[in-house]
Amino acid sequence: MTTSSRYKSRTPRSDDAEEKDYVGFATLPNQVHRKSVKKGFDFTLMVAGESGLGKSTLVNSLFLTDLHKDRKLLNAEERISQTVEITKHTVDIEEKGVKLKLTIVDTPGFGDAVNNTECWQPVTDYINLQFEQYFRDESGLNRKNIQDNRVHCCLYFIPPFGHGLRPVDIEFMKALQDKVNVVPLIAKADCLTPLEIKKLKERLREEIDKYGIKIYQFPDCDSDEDEEFKQQDRELKESTPFAVIGSNTVVEARGQRVRGRLYPWGIVEVENPSHCDFVKLRTMLIRTHMHDLKDITSDCHYENFRALCIQTMTRCLRRMQQMLQKMQQQMHEQDL
Ligand code: GDP
Repeated sequence: MTTSSRYKSRTPRSDDAEEKDYVGFATLPNQVHRKSVKKGFDFTLMVAGESGLGKSTLVNSLFLTDLHKDRKLLNAEERISQTVEITKHTVDIEEKGVKLKLTIVDTPGFGDAVNNTECWQPVTDYINLQFEQYFRDESGLNRKNIQDNRVHCCLYFIPPFGHGLRPVDIEFMKALQDKVNVVPLIAKADCLTPLEIKKLKERLREEIDKYGIKIYQFPDCDSDEDEEFKQQDRELKESTPFAVIGSNTVVEARGQRVRGRLYPWGIVEVENPSHCDFVKLRTMLIRTHMHDLKDITSDCHYENFRALCIQTMTRCLRRMQQMLQKMQQQMHEQDL
């Protein structure tokens, strides 16, 4: 479309009385929309938690892709000696013409060793490295084509078998809380009855409060939002930490093909809200809060990192200036 034709298509017709007072800036949201759709979106999601808690299965269920098809599963011996490594998978998905570059960062080996002291260090290092890279690119010459690899959200899987948070869960979330949006999940929720899920959720919420863990906070709903949206928002907040179930298989339930887990005693449906919070998590991540997660990453977590970098750089610069001044003074005194 040429500039003139684009202009014409937006120009109000003179015979339309209502459009006489129309300047045209009401089309600004449409312009932003067009530009964003053309550019595409990106989102980086990290998953963390012990191996076997269903991380890969859940990610596959969330984005309907097989992100981990070439994953090598380690035996117990290999897992004990394994250090935490970080793996990254990127897929381009498209829905109704909207493109999303999705990056999944996995943390195999996290929490698997006998001694898990500081096993979150490689994870925090990875997040810092992405901030560092972004900071360098942002301060460089080619700012237009920056590749943003910052982690926007970390899904932290809590085992369903325990009685609340384990020390490793507390330490991990505390180590990451100021660097990334942490969303805790109760893994494999089909192992628990509805009452057990309710009790575990209450316990986890209490402990998160007690230990001062800062998890991702859903933003407050605007007062002018419609009632349905407000209700959805309330339910979302009340359901945390989300109890999730994942499955890579499609089964037949009530005459329909659904993603689920087939047991001798029945079928657990991943997308059935009375079975688990999978749909709530997916709605939050993809439909309602993806932008907010990215905003918080950029405006809070990255800004904190950036401020620290600038402070350190300024301090170094000041020290160098002082040293230079001292050297100049010494040289001057020697000349005299
Ligand atoms: P990861 O190591 O954390 O990535 O775990 P995987 O996704 O590889 O899953 C480990 C095992 O748990 C596999 O046998 C899965 O089929 C199973 N699994 C995955 N999600 C669930 C779930 O929600 N409930 C149950 N009961 N099993 C699950």
